[in-house]
Amino acid sequence: MQHNYIANASIPSHSGKTIAVVDPSDGQVFDEIQRSTAHDMDAAVRSARHCLERVWSRLSGAERGRLLMRLSGKVTEHARELALIEQRDCGKPTRQALADALALARYFEFYAGACDKLHGQTIPYLDGYSVLTWREPHGVTGHIIPWNYPMQIFGRSVGAALAAGNVCVVKPSEDACLSLLRVAELAAEAGFPAGALNIVTGYGHEVGDALARHAGIDHISFTGSSRTGTLIAQAAAERHCPVALELGGKSPQIVFADADLDAAIPAILSGIVQNAGQTCSAGSRLLVAKELYPALLARLGEAFENLRVGPAAMDLDLGPLIRPSQQQRVWDFLSDAHAAGIPVVAQGLIVDEAPDSGFYQAPMLLADVPADHRLTQEEIFGPVLCALPFHDEDEAVLLANDTRFGLAAGIWTADGARQFRMARRVKSGQVFINNYGAGSGVELPFGGVKSSGYGREKGFEALYGFTTLKTVALRHG
Ligand code: NAD
Repeated sequence: MQHNYIANASIPSHSGKTIAVVDPSDGQVFDEIQRSTAHDMDAAVRSARHCLERVWSRLSGAERGRLLMRLSGKVTEHARELALIEQRDCGKPTRQALADALALARYFEFYAGACDKLHGQTIPYLDGYSVLTWREPHGVTGHIIPWNYPMQIFGRSVGAALAAGNVCVVKPSEDACLSLLRVAELAAEAGFPAGALNIVTGYGHEVGDALARHAGIDHISFTGSSRTGTLIAQAAAERHCPVALELGGKSPQIVFADADLDAAIPAILSGIVQNAGQTCSAGSRLLVAKELYPALLARLGEAFENLRVGPAAMDLDLGPLIRPSQQQRVWDFLSDAHAAGIPVVAQGLIVDEAPDSGFYQAPMLLADVPADHRLTQEEIFGPVLCALPFHDEDEAVLLANDTRFGLAAGIWTADGARQFRMARRVKSGQVFINNYGAGSGVELPFGGVKSSGYGREKGFEALYGFTTLKTVALRHG
């Protein structure tokens, strides 16, 4: 049985109600988390505010940095333990879960070094005046986190917020809380003062909504679906609370005829099958130059047929999807594709060891998907890659920009001028040229345009979002 983590203590919810935790690999219940309400959220916000006023705001940047660095060390020490927790909770193959734990350690390392390097400016003004700006923390920041990359998203959002001098209240997804509850314990062991980092679990419409509406939350960082992002922004607007929204995507991989396919194919593949396609920046639309289209689909088709899906502990290419409703969502898209006569080029294999009670989906490569079909327009959030051909660069840009999303784009071409033209013309928060993200990318600012959200997390840029600028004008004679 898991409890909330408030003021460095494990605390049951006020209601006494719990939510079952299910292993997606076999569909079996193996733990329980608290089903918290506004009452528990209020306790967490109070504890955070108390810590901010009494302790956290009195620490220097260097002192905060040392605490973050100690937490990074603890996470590294416990990386395997955290990975195993995440594996069972989210159905992540072992290597992917371990990579997430190490990315979390790296976020805290990166932001530890940034704590004492965040500063304002002096501004030339009228004679007899001195003007300066201070970057001040918002205060108590709220963080609502999805289930697909709990550790990574916690690292980039909470790491930057703490570094900028805020204290945090976190509402993880009801589908994936366990690793973060353990990280909060590690933070206490690392010497974090009580109340600097609080975790409250429960359903989004109950305790997530309570966070979004709480008058004591000074800034909200939300990562999740576009639909929930709208609700959060509406609730925050009622009290003019700033919000950063990291939402969904329908990111294109754009492959020109001169692309290096030996580099492109593995990146296109991992861009859609990593975490079973449940990745906001999944490269889920494959736009291919007409002359290359048949050859690329043939090579990618072979690669898809070699993919294996099974229980997370088997550490295959893909684990299960997170829950039955997500599996049903993918099935609905695939049955629409079937009804529309969209051809399946190739698919991977679910291994015999995968129990029927798990939530498995074979990765699928679909061809000739019409540009206006919901398969090319909506986020499937599963291992389904939709391919379509383009005639020239202008059509590639039109297709790339023809969804309501704008999170990431991959461009594959050897032509240097085209690389830059495309990077400018594609409407997207991130553009990757001849790669599709390498390593954890902790240093790289990340976020979307259009319905993919606004605000930036990751990199040094994130620190600005977790501060507010105060201008001080002094007349001295
Ligand atoms: P979701 O929107 O259903 O849930 C996200 C979080 O919001 C959860 O903690 C949930 O409990 C909470 N929530 C739900 N309803 C709420 C409400 N009314 N008020 C307050 N909180 C509420 O999303 P999900 O299914 O957990 O995650 C998948 C989505 O997240 C996908 O759309 C994916 O693209 C997106 N995502 C985006 C990024 C990014 O950086 N842009 C990263 C990861 C995931």
